[in-house]
Amino acid sequence: LVSRKRKKEDTIVDVNGHKIGDGAPSFIYGPCAVESYEQVSAVAKSIKAKGLTMIRGGAYKPRTSPYDFQGLGLEGLQILKRVADETGLSVVTEIITPTHLEEALDYIDVIQIGARNMQNFELLKEAGMVNKPVLLKRGLAATIDEFINAAEYIISKGNSQIILCERGIRTYERATRNTLDISAVPILKQETHLPVFVDVTHSTGRKDLLLPTAKAAIAVGADGVMAEVHPDPAVALSDSAQQMDLQQFDEFYEAIEQFMNTHQTI
Ligand code: PEP
Ligand code: MN
Repeated sequence: LVSRKRKKEDTIVDVNGHKIGDGAPSFIYGPCAVESYEQVSAVAKSIKAKGLTMIRGGAYKPRTSPYDFQGLGLEGLQILKRVADETGLSVVTEIITPTHLEEALDYIDVIQIGARNMQNFELLKEAGMVNKPVLLKRGLAATIDEFINAAEYIISKGNSQIILCERGIRTYERATRNTLDISAVPILKQETHLPVFVDVTHSTGRKDLLLPTAKAAIAVGADGVMAEVHPDPAVALSDSAQQMDLQQFDEFYEAIEQFMNTHQTI
């Protein structure tokens, strides 16, 4: 059902009236994890000032080590909702189990399924049964075919509001956190009718590569870019090395705007 052979027209994902996959690229910015109301609110103000419509932030964090910050859980969702109510921004946040999905629905606008859960088939099926868009991230070492099949699990249950997100894959290369598979973007666009995002933060894990990879994503036809922003990255409870601070975010945003005004995309 996700195949371009079955449906020629692009699927447009509607997030509270903001259309993803409808021409101009969309952007999802925000902290890695929700840490406090003040933290989320500071980032939200900056996003809002740019005329953007969505904010991300993890309340449930699937961390590599069980001793690292696991997220604020429901309290994190409540913070996101409060900020959304105050700003009008839409909330994109990761859900890691089918049980959390139900209670999260009142707080969030887009269900993110993270790389570590790309083949959590019960979660995929559950996300397929709800009436909210899903941002599905590519697995840490998933082939494009496996990625497409994961999206198929969601759509097979009735939900076709799916955004695919390339976030880098595990290779032998250690210069970046993961290897951004930029060619996945045009392949996914050819093979499926779903919008395709690129997460430049988790793919590169390097602040100095956020801008060039975001430009590459847009140039190659991505429908949007995701990146992490934190008011004080040095004290962030997760991904401290790779999040932009608010000034870097301003500069990044300006540079992307200029790039989009002066370059043709495919
Ligand atoms: C995230 O976006 O918060 C995240 C954990 O990313 P990924 O699932 O791609 O590792
Ligand atoms: Mn992160």
